[in-house]
Amino acid sequence: MERLYDWATPAWALNTTMLSIRNGFLVCLPLVVAGALAVLCNNLPLPLFHEAMRALFGPNWRSGLFALIWQGSFGVLSLPMVVGISYNLVLVHNRENPLAPVSPAMASVVALGAFVVLLPPDDMLGHIGVQGLFVGILASVTAVRLFLRLVAVKVLQVQIYSEGVASAPQAFACLAAGLVTVSVFASIGLGFRAAFGLSVQESVRELLLFPFRFDLFRDMLGSGIVYVFITHLCWFFGLHGSNVFDPLTHDLFAAATQANLVAQAQGLPAPYIVTKSFLDIFVFMGGAGSSICLLTAILIASHNHGSRRMAKISIAPGLFNINEIVLFGLPVILNPVFLVPFLLVPLTLTLVSFLAIRLGLVPLPMVALEWTTPPILSGLLATHSVAGGLLQVFNLVLGTFIYLPFVKISDQIKKERQKAAQRKLLEIACNNTVGPSGKKCLDRDDEVGALARILAHELEAAMNTGEGLYLEYQPQVDGRTGRVIGAEGLVRWRHSVFGPVPAPVIIAISEDGEFIRTLGLWVLNEACAERARWHAAGLASDFKTSVNLSARQLNDGDLPEKVAQCRNDHHLSTPMIGLEVTESVALDPDAPHNRLLSSLHDMGFSISIDDFGMGHSSLVYLKYFPVSSLKIDKVLSKDVTSSEISAEVIATIVDLCRALRIKVVAEFVENQEQIDRLHALGCHLFQGYFYSPPLSGDDMLAYALRMNAAADARERAERARAT
Ligand code: C2E
Ligand code: CA
Ligand code: CA
Repeated sequence: MERLYDWATPAWALNTTMLSIRNGFLVCLPLVVAGALAVLCNNLPLPLFHEAMRALFGPNWRSGLFALIWQGSFGVLSLPMVVGISYNLVLVHNRENPLAPVSPAMASVVALGAFVVLLPPDDMLGHIGVQGLFVGILASVTAVRLFLRLVAVKVLQVQIYSEGVASAPQAFACLAAGLVTVSVFASIGLGFRAAFGLSVQESVRELLLFPFRFDLFRDMLGSGIVYVFITHLCWFFGLHGSNVFDPLTHDLFAAATQANLVAQAQGLPAPYIVTKSFLDIFVFMGGAGSSICLLTAILIASHNHGSRRMAKISIAPGLFNINEIVLFGLPVILNPVFLVPFLLVPLTLTLVSFLAIRLGLVPLPMVALEWTTPPILSGLLATHSVAGGLLQVFNLVLGTFIYLPFVKISDQIKKERQKAAQRKLLEIACNNTVGPSGKKCLDRDDEVGALARILAHELEAAMNTGEGLYLEYQPQVDGRTGRVIGAEGLVRWRHSVFGPVPAPVIIAISEDGEFIRTLGLWVLNEACAERARWHAAGLASDFKTSVNLSARQLNDGDLPEKVAQCRNDHHLSTPMIGLEVTESVALDPDAPHNRLLSSLHDMGFSISIDDFGMGHSSLVYLKYFPVSSLKIDKVLSKDVTSSEISAEVIATIVDLCRALRIKVVAEFVENQEQIDRLHALGCHLFQGYFYSPPLSGDDMLAYALRMNAAADARERAERARAT
């Protein structure tokens, strides 16, 4: 059984739990961004904006719209996070255990219960926001793991088959497991209260604040460094560091700012350097991780389309020190590549700024500003000195330099993962197996699925604009005369970011996305238009342009009319158009589309069976189907020189087809040896790199005219010699 992500992630990769946590965060991203923007709007450092809001909504405008948005986002963030993480964990479980799937929704509901019982009962609502994230993650991961184990225990499964409600049996089967899970967590909660007099949530918070209770850290530089380190470590694991440590910021660093102001008023030197203003202004530039430096580094050095786009979107909120989009989106959170600079940059900036102030190069920031004040401006305003702004510029450059190599490493890793996903997608597209939903790739919940969805979305758009979409034509040559008798049109799509997308992938995503009929008609129309141009340029009327029909196009009862319409639109004659259908599709005796192929054949369009020989259908079938030509599968024609069995099979096919007046074309002919052998077996029509790779329309025309002129000349010379 293929395990999720095995192929996609390097050895050090995050395991599924980490990925589920990150995906859980991603689910919450709309709320995170809404909350961050609401905070920004309530704290926008623009007096004019404040006045306008006051004029419009009265003096209490801050408790209006933006406060409500905050309430619905940051105010309850732990709950959707628990749901998101649990849901993703169960998706992974279900992929690995397809025979025993568990409802992700039900597991999420159970995890939600398990989380809430860990909160303080008298102030539950005060702990379901950002402050609850840490315990929320712990609770969801452990509760889901426990729940999944319990669900598998036979004695706990209550089997009730209720008619009419499809999900009822599973609901009952999981009932006891859910009950036990929530009870276990409630007991843990009770145990904590008995032991420490606190809820689990409060105990964890106390634990996090523990290091700061010692005098050792009362020197503000030491406290500052520990604070910066721990908050960033929290952030790295997806915890809102600034929120988790909010009481600390308040008790320690805001108090230090206050003490400095008091000292200043008394004409005394300010006792502290590391204060809340110091950290906000010189360290948290652009938000946690001094992420404005990261954004700059990406814009300077990254070639990854996604990262650059993310940076461009993030730069505007980043100027106001809001950085959730880049932290979650890039992502920085839980991404081992960024762990080092994400800790190193703010720590370095803390030290550098401390030194600059201690050495008297920059005045202490003595003015309390909103944390949303943009960098450089905040330095100037808070220190009343150009030096403050200059120190921020210096920090920005330094931080950017530290981030640069990591941005490059991240680029490289993304590139490799993208390539791996592209390879895997091609492999899946070429394979004939489909998932339970009948799709090959579009509904996969891994990176291959994500890539397929992006491609499908953009391919659908490309069909409207025609951007990057075109056909190439591979000539079919009569080996006896050297004359080009036709060409196969092959779809091509050059994606602006991923480059050329292989044809099997184009077809697979169009089938999965259910727009294969539209694509098929686009291809047919394009091939007919090209055929008309070739006709005008003097190509003979018996030159056939073929296109491939996917099995799903044959579900379209109107197909014969559409093909005829296309022929008429381009003023072509029927023999100029050929249709290729793969063997398994064309020779299925029970298929409803047989009538459709017959009517196309009756109308005079030639039907060619593609990839013949490996579809395991009996040769005898050929008699019963409307077939004009047959293309020997690449496996056979590649093997013809090395395998006697392949040669025998080809000889049999050729004999039978001669009797049935079916033309035989050998594909994938790449060398003279193959050609000689195939000639000897009675097969004389070829398509393959030996003659030509697929060509643009113009090159195809030039090739055919040149080859046919040479054949004409040879024939004339032979006739002259004979007479
Ligand atoms: P196919 O119909 O068997 O097309 C032949 C494929 O083999 C083409 O790949 C062609 O470029 C490649 N080929 C031809 N000669 C040689 C050779 O000598 N050596 C090697 N190594 N390869 C050779 P392509 O264009 O990637 O197409 C792959 C498949 O995608 C096609 O297989 C066909 O099944 C499908 N396809 C392509 N275009 C369309 C389309 O417009 N509609 C549909 N429904 N399917 C298409
Ligand atoms: Ca074909
Ligand atoms: Ca083929």
